[in-house]
Amino acid sequence: MLVLGIESSCDETGLALYDTQRGLLAHALYSQVKMHEEYGGVVPELASRDHIRRAIPLLEQVFKDSGVQHDAVDAIAYTQGPGLAGALLVGASVACGLGLALDKPVLGIHHLEGHLLSPLLASEPPEFPFIALLVSGGHTQLMRVDGVGQYTMLGETLDDAAGEAFDKSAKLLGLGYPGGPAISRMAEFGDPTAYKLPRPMLHSKNLDFSFSGLKTAVLTVVKNQTTNICEQDKANIARAFVDAIVEVLTAKCVTALKHTGLKRLVIAGGVGANQQLRASLNAAAAKKHFKVFYPELEFCTDNGAMIAFAGAMRLQLNPDAAKRDYAFNVKPRWPLDSIREI
Ligand code: ATP
Ligand code: MG
Ligand code: FE
Repeated sequence: MLVLGIESSCDETGLALYDTQRGLLAHALYSQVKMHEEYGGVVPELASRDHIRRAIPLLEQVFKDSGVQHDAVDAIAYTQGPGLAGALLVGASVACGLGLALDKPVLGIHHLEGHLLSPLLASEPPEFPFIALLVSGGHTQLMRVDGVGQYTMLGETLDDAAGEAFDKSAKLLGLGYPGGPAISRMAEFGDPTAYKLPRPMLHSKNLDFSFSGLKTAVLTVVKNQTTNICEQDKANIARAFVDAIVEVLTAKCVTALKHTGLKRLVIAGGVGANQQLRASLNAAAAKKHFKVFYPELEFCTDNGAMIAFAGAMRLQLNPDAAKRDYAFNVKPRWPLDSIREI
């Protein structure tokens, strides 16, 4: 079964072709990050317009790269939500227009399910059940995953997402947008003993997170500087921030594994690309005897491959999940644990 995947929930346009026999045949991505950089964040209207510009050329590129004909596609999967309404509408209309033209069924995919299943695209995929830590720009959730569509929420952030905390703290340090990768690189040169930042909810009895206080703590440290912050100071603050967030994320993952008795941990979402987080989780895995799985680096942040793959997984379980119903609607807000049905 060959599935075309279309992702357009935020500021990346992603297209991909996934075949259940042959795997990922092609994928193409355009990131709008340069365009949004000067505004310090994603401008929704600019994002929608740019998806319109990019979608068709990327679509043609994946067909060209894979060598398959348009008509060979069995179904078209697109990100239906959550995300920016205007941006989602572009992907949905391309998917449904193409479905109508080619007489192929379409299905809407939950963006977070895409992230959650993305480690299954790696060369050594985890088996179900597993604990998933979803750490992206908009979400921080711990979930128990028993299969495709079987997601039980164990805990989530009460305020900022981990990626958001990275981005906002990076902005306070003048490191540009999105700041996750920049603050992480800067932290490598920081002195871990220079500053100590709080570990929010580290000792709470549940699996929830809170990161807005950590960002405020960074703000306080920055404001307390009497002179201009030098590069070394920035690195020291970055280091303190990364150490704090990594310690909390690692500890909660370990607790989730302990509570459920599971031995497999899957990391998904953009912050999963973070090397300090990976090092800390790998060390915990060796010490506590569990296994940790990551998506390929290029599939940590938004992409079309994870949407094509999630579509294919759903269709394998229920071939009727895709429909020749082209009257699309998008779901800018859409809780993941509401999609139990396949
Ligand atoms: P969501 O999926 O919740 O709607 P999103 O799609 O914007 O949000 P992703 O694309 O999964 O999120 O991830 C983007 C986030 O990942 C940004 O906040 C970015 O700063 C962060 N990020 C990317 N690489 C790294 C890194 N190496 N270290 C830390 N954070 C990173
Ligand atoms: Mg993005
Ligand atoms: Fe995402």
